[in-house]
Amino acid sequence: MRVFSNATLLCGEEFEVVKGYVAVENGVIKEIGEGRAPYRNVTDAKRGIIFPAFTNAHVHLGDSIARDLAAYEHIGRRVGRRGAKFEVLKKREVSKGIRCSLNEMLNLGTTAFCDFREGGMKGIKQLKSALLKNQDAVMLGRPNGDNIEEVLKNCDGIGISSVADYPPGELKKISSAVKKSGKLLALHAAEVGDDVNEALKLKPDFLVHVTNAGEESLQKIFDSKIPVVLCPRANAMLGVGMPRIKEIFENASVAFGTDNVMVNSLNMFREMEFAFKAARGLSRDYKFDARKILEAATLNGRKILGLKSSAIREGNEANFIILGNRKYLYDPILAIVHRYEASDIRSVVRGVYV
Ligand SMILES: [Zn+2]
Repeated sequence: MRVFSNATLLCGEEFEVVKGYVAVENGVIKEIGEGRAPYRNVTDAKRGIIFPAFTNAHVHLGDSIARDLAAYEHIGRRVGRRGAKFEVLKKREVSKGIRCSLNEMLNLGTTAFCDFREGGMKGIKQLKSALLKNQDAVMLGRPNGDNIEEVLKNCDGIGISSVADYPPGELKKISSAVKKSGKLLALHAAEVGDDVNEALKLKPDFLVHVTNAGEESLQKIFDSKIPVVLCPRANAMLGVGMPRIKEIFENASVAFGTDNVMVNSLNMFREMEFAFKAARGLSRDYKFDARKILEAATLNGRKILGLKSSAIREGNEANFIILGNRKYLYDPILAIVHRYEASDIRSVVRGVYV
């Protein structure tokens, strides 16, 4: 058994603050207690904060070898069907780039992710060959000329780039094959134009972006109760606009993704701070709560992806980040969202240690 003591723990789904200790046995949280730990051999967290590890709910790891390629070009020239990235992907080692990003994510406290994997069966194999032990990978593939049943058998569902990339008949076929398999269907929606209507027709498990969804489209998303994965930093970097973060948070279940590694960094601390302050600034609402942002970056992604909860609770798997102590903090949740840095991570605990 390993006991982490002298910590500020953010427990349960509500991030209830407990000053005390957490005991882990066989990778599972055995005990959470207030005050001093009643054990002799403990690891002193030195008054640091312990909170659930991050979930990056939307990423394209396959483009890791093209970081900032064509950064000042239009989105279509970068990642579109004939974008600059495809030239690079032809020539260089894709799996090595993916492995580099997976390690980076783990060091940044991200223990679960959802990848939009392009390139059919070949793409799925490239990702599978790079996977690490201590991360939950949710792989959403694309048919790319391969048999869709075969693709579905080898991954966790399908991630569609855009409804505009397929004829309507083809989309229907994809959607019904995914539903039949019981796996996940997700797609980019309203990243550039507003294609929410067409996207919703596919009855996806979640939508990614909704950056340019108009009033009516947003209402349709909220009415449908379909969760949304926001990637505000990637949207800003690509110069395609900003999602209505506050409104979306108030009406839908939300998670965060850092999107394409070519466009954006994998750092969830940066994603949280950017989204939090953009939401407050754009809405002029100083009451918009950091708790929602932390929830989206940690617990909600796992919920949307159908993974087990990583809330800090007895009986749950140990899946958390230990941050160093910082002085004079009034609000640990707010501090994680807008003061802490990746360099404050002392350990990532998944099972025992990562
Ligand atoms: Zn994307």
